[in-house]
Amino acid sequence: MNTTEQSNPNPVTRRNFLRMSGSIVAGGAIASLSGVLMKNSLAGETDYFWQIDPTKCTYCGRCETNCVLSISAVKCVHTHKVCGYCDLCGGYYRTNVKDLNTAAENMRCPTGAIKRVYVEDPYFEYTIDESLCIGCGKCAKGCNSFGNGSLYMQVKQDLCKNCNECKISKVCPSNAIQRVPYAKAYILKD
Ligand code: SF4
Ligand code: SF4
Ligand code: SF4
Repeated sequence: MNTTEQSNPNPVTRRNFLRMSGSIVAGGAIASLSGVLMKNSLAGETDYFWQIDPTKCTYCGRCETNCVLSISAVKCVHTHKVCGYCDLCGGYYRTNVKDLNTAAENMRCPTGAIKRVYVEDPYFEYTIDESLCIGCGKCAKGCNSFGNGSLYMQVKQDLCKNCNECKISKVCPSNAIQRVPYAKAYILKD
């Protein structure tokens, strides 16, 4: 076991886990989106924000390299409600890994930003360490290709400079980045 895989100090049974899943979903989504909620509470209701439409994003990788910030304001977010809690997670493991172990060469994420906690055989809970995420989209691409698509990319409003013209929006091949009003300041995948 390496640092990307952790034991759950408070293990839960699958039954409890599924019963709790509604609150986990809401809690997980809100926790990862707390930044935007904070900013929205300070912003006026007439303000607009740059957001990614998760139904259009194709995880091309340009969000990592085209943001004006040295480390992109775009991060992977996770909707736990959609996640299958799979052992063989397409976002966590690279394609065609021979052994399901956490050796670095098996990991999809180049920065070790995806953590997982054992729940009950064969289920794992996945979370993103936003401080390590560079917005490359590799995990989201893997998850959407081989899994349920619960990992996806979003502009974090607590980091975004809200540029007049988002540089990423100019190069996005899917026209996935758009300005949205206050009421839709966080487009969730649900
Ligand atoms: S694979 Fe890329 S987008 Fe996904 S968590 Fe790691 S750094 Fe972030
Ligand atoms: S608006 Fe500016 S800071 Fe925000 S994601 Fe786009 S380029 Fe990055
Ligand atoms: S540039 Fe567009 S398609 Fe590429 S990762 Fe960003 S939002 Fe998705």
